[in-house]
This record gives sequence, C-alpha cells and structure tokens, in this order.
Amino acid sequence: MRLRHIKGAEELIACNRFVVQDPKAMRGSWHDAFPGRTAGQTEEHTPGQTEDKAATQNADKASHPLYIEVGTGKGRFITELAAANPDIDYIGIENHSSVLLKAVKKLEDRELPNLRFILMDAITIEEVFAPGEVDRIYLNFSDPWPKDRHAKRRLPSRQFLARFHEILCDEGTIEFKTDNRVLFDFALEELKFSDFELIDKTYDLHNDEKMNAGNIMTEYEERFSSIGNPICKYVIKRR
Ligand code: SAM
Repeated sequence: MRLRHIKGAEELIACNRFVVQDPKAMRGSWHDAFPGRTAGQTEEHTPGQTEDKAATQNADKASHPLYIEVGTGKGRFITELAAANPDIDYIGIENHSSVLLKAVKKLEDRELPNLRFILMDAITIEEVFAPGEVDRIYLNFSDPWPKDRHAKRRLPSRQFLARFHEILCDEGTIEFKTDNRVLFDFALEELKFSDFELIDKTYDLHNDEKMNAGNIMTEYEERFSSIGNPICKYVIKRR
C-alpha cells in the first residue's frame, strides 16, 4: 500500500476521542471503551424488580459481542458495519496514523457509540486483548508481503493466526477477503499449521449469492472489483 504521510497525523490521533490511547490498559475490559452505550434491559432483568444498576450495566455490556478489524485502512468497512449493527462493539486496528486519520474522520461524521480505533501494529495484539475476549476478527485486503522472508508479517500467516487464536472466544471466527489469489492460496495453506478450520470459501465473492449476502465493500474491494478482479473470501473458526 502506498502511504502518503499527512503532516501532524500522529498529534491528531494522539488526542482524538475515538482512538483508544492506552489500549493495553483496556485488556480484559474492552466494553468499558464504549461509554456512550446505554445500560438497557437484559433478558435476565425483570421490570419492577429492585435494580442493581451496576449488575445491569455489566450484563448489558457483556451481551455485546466484540468484533475487530485488523488493518482497517480508511475505515469504510468497519464504520458501515458498526452503523448497521448497533448491538455489536467494534474496534478498528491500523498501524499508520495518516491512514487511521481518514477512518477517524468518518467516525467523527457519524458519532457511532459502538466503534473505536487503535493505532498499533497487530503483532502485539495479545497484549491488548485478553484470552477469549474477541468474538470475530476481520482481515480485509491484508498487505501481501510478497517476499518469502516476510511471510510471517502477512496477517493470515500461521504466526498471526496463533495470536488471533489466543484472543478469540471458543466459537470465534475470522473472515478474510482479498483479490490477491497468491495470498489467498497461502492463507488456505496456513490453516494446516493453525488451530482453525475452514467453514466456507469462495474465489468469486460478488458472484456467490450465499457468501455475498450482506457484504460491505472496503475501499480496496471497491477499487479492485471495479477493474474486474474477483474477490476471494474465507471464513474460519477456532478449533
Ligand atoms: N482493509 C482496508 C481495505 O480493504 O480497504 C485497507 C487495506 S490495506 C492494503 C492494508 C492495511 O493494513 C494498511 O492500512 C496497513 O497499514 C494495515 N496493516 C498492515 N499490517 C498491519 C499490522 N500488522 N497491524 C495493523 N495494521 C496493519
């Protein structure tokens, strides 16, 4: 990805209210990162019952799954997803401040209470999320790192899959999309060296009625599908 540096991006990100500034401090209590949420009723709560407000709030927070996107780029995918699913909490992770700034601007326009961002390299993701804390991970158009010696930097590599396995809950899933067939074949091969199993895959997402249902296009997806590249996608689940 060609990155144009925006002057002052680091400073703007460092004081932005939608960017979690100390993500390691949130480990194990990520739902606290969404203070705009109301403590609504849960299934366990009976109206008229004496309320233990804190317990109600905790139950409410716990009822929101946590979905993250690693390599969120300019943020279109996760912003649209968060707007469409107010009962799910979302975190977008991006390691370039100039790119993240564009995602943050989108969120400033929408003020969604269920979306936050982190500026970080996902290589240390286990320091930020506790074991089992995450319900789903999205990887969209991850950088291909074409040189063999850089294979472990690819987000669908066995090394990253092991990190993701650690933070996902038992039923946790990963959804990966790319137009890069070499990277997709690599990703499928890497499953053999991981604790994930394939649930579904397609080599032409936009012509696969079942897998394309409810699909939200990313910036890269729109760009590459508009020049005729078929989009590959897999869904895998934690074993
Ligand atoms: N997902 C977006 C899309 O589909 O439009 C952006 C795709 S872009 C090719 C990949 C993005 O992932 C870049 O913005 C890059 O900075 C980010 N990225 C790559 N490796 C990362 C890592 N280890 N941690 C966090 N972000 C990463």
